[in-house]
Amino acid sequence: MSVIIGGGKGFIGQRLVQLLREKGFQNIWIVSRKSDGQGNTLTWDDIRSGTTLSSVKPIKAIVNLAGAPLLSFQRWTDAYKNEVVQSRIGTTKTFVDFVRDLKDEKPEVYVSMSGVSYYKPDPVKEYTETSEGGDYDFLSRLARDWEQASEPIETKFNVRRVILRSGGVLGSSGGMIGSMYWPFFLGVGGPIGNGQQPFPWVHLDDVCLLIIYAIQNNHVNGILNACAPELITNREFSQTFAHAFSPPRPAIFPMPAFLLNTLLGPERAIVATQGQKVIPQATLQTGYTFKYPTIKEASQDLTKLFQRL
Ligand code: NDP
Repeated sequence: MSVIIGGGKGFIGQRLVQLLREKGFQNIWIVSRKSDGQGNTLTWDDIRSGTTLSSVKPIKAIVNLAGAPLLSFQRWTDAYKNEVVQSRIGTTKTFVDFVRDLKDEKPEVYVSMSGVSYYKPDPVKEYTETSEGGDYDFLSRLARDWEQASEPIETKFNVRRVILRSGGVLGSSGGMIGSMYWPFFLGVGGPIGNGQQPFPWVHLDDVCLLIIYAIQNNHVNGILNACAPELITNREFSQTFAHAFSPPRPAIFPMPAFLLNTLLGPERAIVATQGQKVIPQATLQTGYTFKYPTIKEASQDLTKLFQRL
């Protein structure tokens, strides 16, 4: 049976494909904006037309990881905001129509990313999957609309649906660690602003293993907070990450919040300058065990490639 991954060539997708292969999944298809001529890449037009897809059936799972980057230095114009929305909601709707047209060959499960920006940033409040949210700002409404866009897969087509509300994904191959690695390695890293804001995070392997766990276990269903169980502040993250290098680095050079607000615009910079305390309550109730439950263990893994430099 196949696994189809929208946006599967990105930071999370590449690691997911590796881990799926290690777990014995052989028939993996990536949906991309561009065909690269490789046998296992489909375009979104292929999914829309549904004509060339006999080799992907039967389908075990569809995973949607597509989305134009939020924290790139792409100017935050109305046109780009629209791309950010459409790349998530438009691709989701494409999968909804695809599942509708599969008739009696529905996939077992649909898994999609979402983000903890669903919850309003707060230094004190603790959020679980049942907490209110989705109505605070651009990013929280984006998360809400993105999640709602896939609802028909469950309510109309009776396919199990799992949504991962993810914190910042930490992996040495890219994402936020990719952009902060060298400043920390060179000893000039530090917290963002005063560092007191909560820092919801998850290790790259955990987000991918959680996707695989959702694919393999029929009892996994609904919204799951994809965040490590350890609640930390941005300062605790930067200190633990810096200290995991050998020899330990200082983490005393803060990145001023106003600089991020200027570079990214406050609507996006909020992801880094503020944060939420997010508890993976439903996630733990599924029986999933985090490979990296603490930032100390995660940091040791994230820095290990560079320990000999
Ligand atoms: P990446 O930016 O690495 O990759 C996502 C993929 O989305 C790309 O490989 C690309 O595939 C596709 N994509 C980019 N722009 C567009 C577009 N305009 N239209 C359609 N597809 C597009 O993302 P990540 O792997 O880091 O994240 C995957 C998903 O998880 C994203 O939706 C992200 O918002 C979400 N997420 C990520 C977090 C993180 O910390 N990384 C945290 C919370 C949520 P191609 O070029 O092949 O078309």
